[in-house]
This record gives sequence, structure tokens and C-alpha cells, in this order.
Amino acid sequence: MRLSELKTGEKGVIVKVLGHGGFRKRIVEMGFIRGKIVTVLLNAPLQDPVKYKIMGYEISLRHTEAAMIEVMSTNEARQLEEEEARKLGMTEISDSVGTEDGNVTDEQLHRAAIKKSHTINVALVGNPNCGKTSLFNFASGAHERVGNYSGVTVDAKEGHAQFEGYQFNLVDLPGTYSLSAYSPEELYVRKQIIENTPDVIINVIDASNIERNLYLTTQLVDMNLKIVGALNMFDEFESRGDKLDYNVLGELFGIPLVPTVFKSGRGVEELFKTVIDIYEGRPVPGKSGIRHIHLNHGKYIEQSIEDVKKEIQKNEQIRYKYSTRFLSIKLLEKDAKAEELVMSLPNGREIISTRDSAAEYIMKETKEDSETAIMNAKYGIIHGALHEAGCEEGTKTDTYQTTHVIDSIITNRYIGFPLFFLFLYIMFEVTFTLGQYPMDWLDAGVGALGDWIKSTLPDGPLKAMLADGVIGGVGSVIVFLPQILILYAFISFMEDSGYMARAAFIMDKLMHKMGLHGKSFIPLIMGFGCNVPAVMATRTIESRRSRLITILVLPLMSCSARMPIYIMIIGTFFAAKYQSLIMISLYAAGILLAVLMSRIFSRWLVKGDDTPFVMELPPYRFPTAKAMARHTWEKGRQYLKKMGGIILVASIIVWALGYFPHNDSLPPQAQQEQSYIGHIGKAIEPVFRPQGFDWKLDVSLIAGVGAKEIVASTMGVLYADDETVADETADNTKKYELLRQKMTADGITPLIAFAYLLFVLIYFPCIATIAAVKGETGSWRWAAFAAIYTTALAWVVSACVYQIGCLLS
Ligand code: GDP
Ligand code: MG
Repeated sequence: MRLSELKTGEKGVIVKVLGHGGFRKRIVEMGFIRGKIVTVLLNAPLQDPVKYKIMGYEISLRHTEAAMIEVMSTNEARQLEEEEARKLGMTEISDSVGTEDGNVTDEQLHRAAIKKSHTINVALVGNPNCGKTSLFNFASGAHERVGNYSGVTVDAKEGHAQFEGYQFNLVDLPGTYSLSAYSPEELYVRKQIIENTPDVIINVIDASNIERNLYLTTQLVDMNLKIVGALNMFDEFESRGDKLDYNVLGELFGIPLVPTVFKSGRGVEELFKTVIDIYEGRPVPGKSGIRHIHLNHGKYIEQSIEDVKKEIQKNEQIRYKYSTRFLSIKLLEKDAKAEELVMSLPNGREIISTRDSAAEYIMKETKEDSETAIMNAKYGIIHGALHEAGCEEGTKTDTYQTTHVIDSIITNRYIGFPLFFLFLYIMFEVTFTLGQYPMDWLDAGVGALGDWIKSTLPDGPLKAMLADGVIGGVGSVIVFLPQILILYAFISFMEDSGYMARAAFIMDKLMHKMGLHGKSFIPLIMGFGCNVPAVMATRTIESRRSRLITILVLPLMSCSARMPIYIMIIGTFFAAKYQSLIMISLYAAGILLAVLMSRIFSRWLVKGDDTPFVMELPPYRFPTAKAMARHTWEKGRQYLKKMGGIILVASIIVWALGYFPHNDSLPPQAQQEQSYIGHIGKAIEPVFRPQGFDWKLDVSLIAGVGAKEIVASTMGVLYADDETVADETADNTKKYELLRQKMTADGITPLIAFAYLLFVLIYFPCIATIAAVKGETGSWRWAAFAAIYTTALAWVVSACVYQIGCLLS
């Protein structure tokens, strides 16, 4: 708890002082040191300020100041001790804790605070792609996604690690190039640092790209935080033969630098040791010259910063949370968020006008606007520091050398596109042909299980539910797991190798024509896997307009959940030699419609400016098999989870709707027609008359609103009524032939089947996707719009195809 929460007469012990350097230093100098006991003596009439007793003397603090001091109350200390005692298996807790009257002794209080203070909150900050998540996974044993393009991490992820008696709470933040208010991520990271006041920041610096990475470092230094720099990718740095005295560089920036390789874990131990040293305020061994410094931006800018700072400092309370120097610099950079914050202060106007004249002064002296001048000064500092530290680029193998060769082929004007589409073709081809084998095995297994249930259980609803509901529903979807895993393996490979970024690069021009952005391409491709993470991945797109349009057209990307129904219907209705073609035509139709809709949306619906294409092309890295296996498995697990959850429930519901009211004497077909599901299907049949769908197709569409896999599983249930299907499941061609006979008997032609597939492709994405759209756009309005427009579009397109097809044949 915070010191400000203690009531008059209560006692607490100091755990740590939060906030940035300047403030913390002052508070610590006043005697607020870890383990010291504070007593609340007196609250002023308005609760502010409050008089405290510490180290035998009395002191008064404002509420805001006290809110930045973490303390442990006697109660908390007692609880901690009790827990500890319980862990050690002591039964007589009351004896081991506190004095006879139940109070905690100062000695115990002190001990508890020390224990508590052995928790260090660490935030990982760095450019995209510098290895933050790799460190996070390595240290915490988590399995977060690492990827070789920017924007893989879109949320703050928390993990824990233990080292040398300390508990580390690690937060993996999204990658940012700077801390300006340019993209949502930058704002997010800034907010995380300021609001959550991590004890230590690990600034991960890509050593093979050091100049640009240090730009962010300069801003972190401005914020006056406790920072440890991890010079990551040091393996590449060394193999290139680059030279750098990182100890000198660290001194120049006032932060200790530790060379690391997060791929192998090299340097991680030293990094954490250094974090502990910095946290405890101890000198770092071998890096004794480290102390906080102000980076010198040159005479004119420094003068301006001082002027603005003086005006800001008139507000005592702002200093506890923000470094006034950082705020001043941000104001000079015309940072909108900083301006907003300052305007809420009583002397906001004065601060802004001081800023304006300071900016004018910079303009006059440097012939540059203040924003550019500061940026140039920062790069100047970096350049000078690197020179000072003897930074030299090696001449041996350049990481980028190979990359350049590969890039000259992959992004080539003539062969770039064919290569890209060839890759996509291979991806789908392998997915379907290679995936066929394990799929057949699974299919045989499911069939055998169904047989076994049918032969062992007595007749009745339970047997019918297990055989037709569960096995028929979940079983018909689970067989697609291998293909989904293969597809994800390909997508993981594209992400991890760096090819995905190139795909975005070569697609940028095309994307622009659609009113989108090159960066939109990555989420769109991810959409082939699953729309939900794809919607979340749009966060890297800076322009709100491109982002919104991308989100809206994403559901048209055919996600893997739609694959089961495609395979089932295509296998049933189309000859083997046309199957790939039909499949591709579906994907193509989705893409085409996405192009069309995004043009329409950018023209009439979503207004705003285009942003220029800023996208890093990281060097190619061969993905580790472990990382790829992990990503692929993560996806597979999610799929299985869906299987056991929503799909299982939906299958049983669909089965029950078809089974009840039950009449044993009726043949299966007639039984279904008179069941609840038959009535529902019949009721909505007129809506789908223009498409030629029958009630069974309608029912599966309704069931598919929850998740698209359910379309296939519902079909499985609806057609599983005949004993022969279950008997023959081991052989796909036979099964499809049976299904075809049944469906043809219902009047379904290949044309209707195709219109139906189009409808499945386009209509209502799924509940999870709609929820993600709401989350990302922040409004139900857009979520509802996405749901409605896709369904309407699906209706129109499938009706057109069927009607035109009828005319032609
Ligand atoms: P993030 O965007 O900062 O979270 O970076 P990631 O952790 O996703 O890593 C980006 C890429 O760099 C991945 O392909 C990692 O395998 C790779 N990587 C991370 N650390 C190192 C390292 O020290 N050396 C090398 N060679 N590659 C690394
Ligand atoms: Mg990451």
C-alpha cells in the first residue's frame, strides 16, 4: 500500500520510493529509506499535508508525495509472516508472529519490508524486433510470440522470474522507436512507464542497429529513470567484426550496458545482476562511472529547456510523477499529450507561452523548428557518443549483406510478385496435400470411436448424443487440426524469418490503391489463420483511417475455421482435378471483395489522411525450430480449446434440436424435418430462397454464428443420421460419395454448393472476431457495422452467383 493510505496513528514500514530520479532522490534524502518505520502523527484539517514521524523526527508531506511511497502496514507484515509460517508448516502461528498483544514488533516489520522490497518491477522497453520478447520468454519461461517484424507484441504481457533471492515482475511492452505521441504504441509505452512506475527499465538495444536504437535510449534518459541497457544481438555484432567500447558508451549515457544474446541466453545473468545493483543503488562492478546525467542538447536547446522547466516547476505536485526535464523537452517537441497535461495546470497558459517563446528562440538560433532541432541534437549526441566509444563497423560478414542479396531477389520489380504468389500457392498446396495423410488417420480414429460407441452402448438418447452429437460434431472438425497446424507453421515461418515484412513492402503500393497501408497487409495475411489476432495486429498501423478500414475488411480473409466446411463441400461436390481451383477461387473471392470494400470504405465511409509508409525491414533470420514449433502449437492449442468449448456445446445443442421431439418410428429424414431444427430451418427458408439453400444449409449457417467451424460440425450432425455414414468413415471418398448422394437427394446442386460456400466465406465473421473489433475500435457501432455489412454482402453475392449461374446453365 501507499503511505498516503495510512490513517492517523497507524504505523508502516517503507518498502520503496516510486517515481522518477529527481523526486525519489529528494524523498530519500529526507530519510525515507527502505526498512525505516513511519508513523502518521497528524492529518491536517483537509488531509493535506500530513505530519509523519520518521527516524525520530517529524516531517510533513503532501498527499501526492506520500502516494509515491510504497509502505507495508503492520497488518500486511503480519499476514506475510503468517503465510511464511504456514509455508514452513508451523501450526502455532500466533506464537511465532507478533508480541503477546498481537502487535508486530519493529524488528518483524523491518524484516517484512526487506522481504517485500526484494520484488523488482521491470519493464522491457526497446525498438520493435530488438529481442524484448525473447528475453521475456527466456527469463520467465513464458511462451509469448517472437517474430521478425514490428508489432508482434501489442499488449503488455506480465511474467515472473526469480534470481538471487529477488522476485522480478517483468512486463514486455510493445516495441517503439521513440516516446512521442505518434502511434498508439508509443503513447501506450509512455503511459505504462509513467503510470505504473516500474522500478527499473531494461532498455533492449539492438547492437546491430545501434544508432537508431539509442534514440529511444536518449528519451528514456530524459525521463530520469533507473535504466539498464541490454546490448542485444551481440552475436551478430561480433560476427560482423564491429567494434565498440560499451563501457565508455554506457558512461556517456549514464546507464550500464550489458552485451547479451537472448537467443541463447548469453549475458542474461549479468543483466539481472546489474538490474539488482541499479535497483539497490549500488555501484555496478566494473561500471563504477555510471551516474545519471543530462544529455546535452546544445546551448540553445538547453537554455530553452531550462526556461520551460522553471515555469513547470512552479507546480509542486507535477514533479512527483513526471520528470520536469522530460516534460519540457516534450513541450518543445510540440507533443500534444504533454500540452494537454500542462494545460490542466493552473499556470498552463504561462507554460505554453514560455514554450512558444523558447521555441521561437531555438528557431532564431538554429534555423530549425524546435522539434527538428531536438531530434537533430539527439542524433548528434548519439553520433558523438558512438565516436567517443570507438564504434567501428566491421568489414567481415554483414548481417545485411546476405539480407541485401535476398532482398534484391524477393523485392525485385519483376519476380517479387510471382515469387510471393508462388509462396502462397506452395503454402496452400502443402497444407492440403500433406495434411491429407494425418487427416485420414484422425478420420479413421474418429470413425472407429463412433463404431465402438454404437456397438457398446444401449440404444437411447445418450448413445445418439455421443455418436451423432459429440462424435459427429466435434469429430468432423477435429480432423482438420493437422491442416491448420501446417498453415500456422507457414505463417510462423513468414513472420519469424522476416519475409512478412517484405510482403508488406512489396504490397504497399497495391494496398495504397485500396486506401490501406503496406502494414495492413500483415494483419490481412494473418487473417487467413484466424481473424481475432489479425484484428489485434492492426495496432501497428499509425493512421486511424487505414486501421479502421483494415479491421472492417479483415473478416473477408478466409480464416482457417472456414476450411473444414470448404473441404467437406468441395470434396463432396467437385471432381478431384477442380478441387484446388475451387478452393483458390474462394480465397480469391474474399480478397477481391476486401479490395472492393476497402475502396468503397475509404471513398465514402472513413475519412482522414494517409500516413507515409514507415516500415522496418529487419535482416533475415532463420527462425529457430523451437520458436516455430511453439507458435504453431499455441495456435493448435487454441483450436483444440475451441473444440472442447464452444464447438462441443454447439454440437450438442444442434444435435438436441434435431433429436427432439423424438419419434422412433420415423425414418431419420422425416424425424429431422419434424424436429425443432427442422422448424427453425423451415421458418427461415424463404430468406434464402434466392440462393437455393434448403433448410439444412440454413440451420448450419445459423449455428455458425458462434464460430465458423460449427458450420461443418452442424452439417456433420445433420447428415450423420444414417448408419452407413458412421460405418464408412475410414474412407473419405466413400464418405463424400454418400454425402453427395444425400445432399443431391435434398436437391443441392454443385452451383448451390458453391453459392453456399461463398455465403460461409463472407457472412458474420464469428462472435470472437466481433468482440475483437469492438475492443480495437472502441465502439459497438463499428462492431455492429462489421457484422451487418458482411452478412448483407454475403446474401447479395451468393444470390447473384446462384441466379446468374442458373441463367447460364
Ligand atoms: P521484440 O519485437 O523486441 O519482442 O523481438 P523478438 O523477441 O520478437 O525477436 C525478434 C527476432 O530476433 C526473433 O527472430 C528472435 O529470434 C531474434 N533474436 C532475439 N534476440 C537475438 C539475439 O540475441 N541474436 C540473434 N541473432 N537473434 C535474436
Ligand atoms: Mg515482442
